[in-house]
Amino acid sequence: MHDVSRRELLKATAAVGAGSLLASGLVGAAAQSAAADGRPQPHPDGGQEPYPGAESPPAELTGRVVRPGDPDYPTASLGWDELFVHYPLVIVFAQETSDVVNALTWARQHNVALRVRSGRHSLEGWSNVDNGIVIDVSELKSTDIDAATLTAKVGAGLNQLEAVTTLGQQDLAATTGTEGSVGLSGATLGGGFGFLTRYLGMACDNLIGAEVVVPAGVDGARAIQVNRNDHPDLLWALRGAGNGNFGIVTSLTYKVARLRKVTYLQATWSGLDDLHGIFDTWQRTAPFTDFRLGTQLEIHKSQILLFGVLAEGSEAATRKLLAPILSIGSPEITVQTGGWGEIYAGFQIPTEDEPANWKFFSQFTRKPFPRKAISLIRTFMADAPTEDSNFFAQAFGTGAQAQEPPGGSAFPHRDVLFYSEPGAGWGTRGVPDSGDPLTPVAQAWIAEFSQALRPYVHGAYVNVPNIGMQEWETAYWGANFDRLRKIKAKYDPRNVFQYEQSIPPASC
Ligand SMILES: Cc1cc2nc3c(=O)[nH]c(=O)nc-3n(C[C@H](O)[C@H](O)[C@H](O)COP(=O)(O)OP(=O)(O)OC[C@H]3O[C@@H](n4cnc5c(N)ncnc54)[C@H](O)[C@@H]3O)c2cc1C
Repeated sequence: MHDVSRRELLKATAAVGAGSLLASGLVGAAAQSAAADGRPQPHPDGGQEPYPGAESPPAELTGRVVRPGDPDYPTASLGWDELFVHYPLVIVFAQETSDVVNALTWARQHNVALRVRSGRHSLEGWSNVDNGIVIDVSELKSTDIDAATLTAKVGAGLNQLEAVTTLGQQDLAATTGTEGSVGLSGATLGGGFGFLTRYLGMACDNLIGAEVVVPAGVDGARAIQVNRNDHPDLLWALRGAGNGNFGIVTSLTYKVARLRKVTYLQATWSGLDDLHGIFDTWQRTAPFTDFRLGTQLEIHKSQILLFGVLAEGSEAATRKLLAPILSIGSPEITVQTGGWGEIYAGFQIPTEDEPANWKFFSQFTRKPFPRKAISLIRTFMADAPTEDSNFFAQAFGTGAQAQEPPGGSAFPHRDVLFYSEPGAGWGTRGVPDSGDPLTPVAQAWIAEFSQALRPYVHGAYVNVPNIGMQEWETAYWGANFDRLRKIKAKYDPRNVFQYEQSIPPASC
């Protein structure tokens, strides 16, 4: 296709969303109308369209560039949650920061919809887009660890397993989530909790710096260094609201802690008969226990699982702290003690063994669930669409995450007892978009389950987005939302980074 008409086509399709234009047959008309009018178009946010008055030289895509028709396009365009399938126009796997600068400039100059991607675990498929550009940082894998100053600067492409393993080799740790294949970037920028949260705070609390590629001028991009001294407002925003909102993070710098050993305990109860006692005891003890102990409860259709990690603690100490829960019924208990890196690697489930499709609903809780709410969990879990579906809960309470880090954070949920989510998992991997008959069943189950729990919960976790939720802005960020909009207006005034639940600039 001729370059000019291709540009106009891209501009026209990106403006409305290519899928809808293609489906409605409007591509030709929209492209013609844009081609007939060569003048700069008014930008929806009050600026000017980038060309023909572009300020930056025309950008070329650099790095590993994958397009439709390339042999690796099917795998390159697939996300972890196969419920969401997208067909991007191009995927750029950045090899260095300049590839990200070029890609963002190119996207702006061609007015193409763009998404940022790292570990591909977005639970609504929002790191991908039809007929747009996906700027993927997952091949930025550098690590620079300074054990003397307890800091680690890592490429934005590390997944959590890679980060935990690399740090663990030096008896160091920072908080991450529990699933190793999740991107460190995606988890940290939305908050990031896991077994070490009560010991070390949220993952975003340990973030002390970042390199970020932000829009610059009419149609360009530049990399900026963010830390407590330079762009401290953006550092604050990246700590809990950084996912695809302000710029593309290419490296992350963490404050890390020494961690020589942990004890990892798993208890399994068969059936749901002990649920009331287990859940009630857990919610009244785990949030208030020794801050070195992180726990998660997972309630399935036919079993209840409790996981605990005690940082720098023995098996005896772990059993003692968990005794009120472990004394209920007859759980099967396994315990391991070792380095955090090896323990973390040991409890990972290979992605290929997991269901293809997932739907979650996130929520926080300030007051213990009454008996009625626990009964609801039992009723819904007994009726779960699959055995993989579960009700997951993570203790917060009086741990380190209750305190803001120096400089503060956009993550607001500091006063909660626990986080929880009903989650449905179903289907076989490798056949995305297969029209699985369980899909409507699972979707209805999760919708009804989350609705039934609403009287007992508040707020939501941006890393587990609740599609269709009213007032998601305050559910994710509380009173911080207004400040986030102002910071957005400063770093991305033209709203280059936008998706279904992105933060609009204050001027919009
Ligand atoms: C199986 C599973 C288990 C999970 N467990 C936990 C858990 O224990 N604790 C927890 O806190 N969360 C957990 N999560 C939620 C997880 O933190 C989010 O799904 C996270 O956003 C995924 O990040 P990603 O990089 O893998 O995904 P992606 O799909 O690549 O990105 C997710 C979002 O982050 C943005 N983003 C990614 N990289 C960058 C970047 N470099 N710069 C700017 N924006 C970027 C994307 O645009 C997108 O909006 C879990 C999710 C799954 C699927």
